[in-house]
Amino acid sequence: MLCVYCDQPLECDACGDPYNPPGLAEYEALSRPEVPVVCPGCGAVVVCHWCKTPYDGEEQD
Ligand SMILES: [Zn+2]
Ligand SMILES: [Zn+2]
Repeated sequence: MLCVYCDQPLECDACGDPYNPPGLAEYEALSRPEVPVVCPGCGAVVVCHWCKTPYDGEEQD
C-alpha cells in the first residue's frame, strides 16, 4: 500500500510494519480521510512513517 499523502510505502510509525488492509473496507478507508485506519499489528492509529500524516479520521489542512 502506498501512502495517499506522500506515495511512499505505508508503514505504521508505531511498530514499523507495512500496512496491509485486512479487507475491502479498510482498503477504501485509506482514500477516505474521515475514516480512521488502525494498524492490525499493534492496534495504533496508522501514522505514515514517512510524512507523519495520521490516518485518524481528522481531515488534514
Ligand atoms: Zn502498528
Ligand atoms: Zn505518507
